[in-house]
Amino acid sequence: MLDPMQNLLEELHKKYASVTSGHPATYIPELAKANPNDFAIVVTTVEGVQYKVGDWNKSFSLQSTSKPFIYGMALEEHGRDFVHSKVGVEPTGEAFNSIMELEKKTNRPYNPMINSGAIAISSFIKGDTFPKRLESMTKVFENYQGHEVSVGKEVFESEKKTAHRNRSIAHLLRHFNVIDDRIDEALDLYFMQCSILATTSDLSMMAATLANRGAHPLTKKRALSQEYVGDVLSLMFSCGMYDSSGEWAYTVGVPAKSGVSGAIFGVVPGEFGIAVYSPPIDEKGHSIRGLRVFEELSKRCQLSIFRVTKT
Ligand code: GLU
Repeated sequence: MLDPMQNLLEELHKKYASVTSGHPATYIPELAKANPNDFAIVVTTVEGVQYKVGDWNKSFSLQSTSKPFIYGMALEEHGRDFVHSKVGVEPTGEAFNSIMELEKKTNRPYNPMINSGAIAISSFIKGDTFPKRLESMTKVFENYQGHEVSVGKEVFESEKKTAHRNRSIAHLLRHFNVIDDRIDEALDLYFMQCSILATTSDLSMMAATLANRGAHPLTKKRALSQEYVGDVLSLMFSCGMYDSSGEWAYTVGVPAKSGVSGAIFGVVPGEFGIAVYSPPIDEKGHSIRGLRVFEELSKRCQLSIFRVTKT
């Protein structure tokens, strides 16, 4: 007999596989090649037990689902005071790639979960050379995934070639002294983090690592100091779903992050991590099947962190 969680995931997968609205992102040409039928849901408990359904072994680039992890890295390398002297903690209500998104008085990006904040955060990665900075960034993802990671070279090149908007954001950040002169390096580090490959099973394990207070459930290796896990989850909660963060907090109620490759992950602190992958996205950049699955999963399992009646 199947575990009730496995049963539920299979039911949701079957139900939402028939939703065919939306298209894979096209503004990064390589992402447009994704198969719109790919669909996976994985739940990973803090003990490392996984419930998987669908194409959970297919790789995709993390895109913006990488942002919380690099924000955690910046907190560890520089501490809260430095990081938040440069990047704020307020949701914007603006699109993820908005250019008009610096705080009025401070000229800081509003938060680390949108492109401007994440490009700034990437620019803080320590190291005298680009390869050293890249290596320490990659190491962070390895600790969360529990194995070596690779970068999707085609996605990286494709984004690098077409990222005029992100380039202009980076120059604006330089103008306001949020980042230093290594503008191209900051952008390359940012494109690299967005191009790190993961399967839905990996992303769910990364989420479970955050649910497990920063320690990987199976390797037990620490990916993030416990003292910063709350910072990351709190910003995921208020800003992780871009300009639908308020609606998400209301309907789903768990810290989460989405990316334009079609991935969404959520964290139920102390319990489990959840990842859904399905490339067709809506106009705000969220996986359409992903949104539906999270909404129903949250209702059926009472996942909201504000639940008061869970027995
Ligand atoms: N690399 C993408 C960009 O900068 C990430 C956007 C996203 O996933 O929301 O546009």
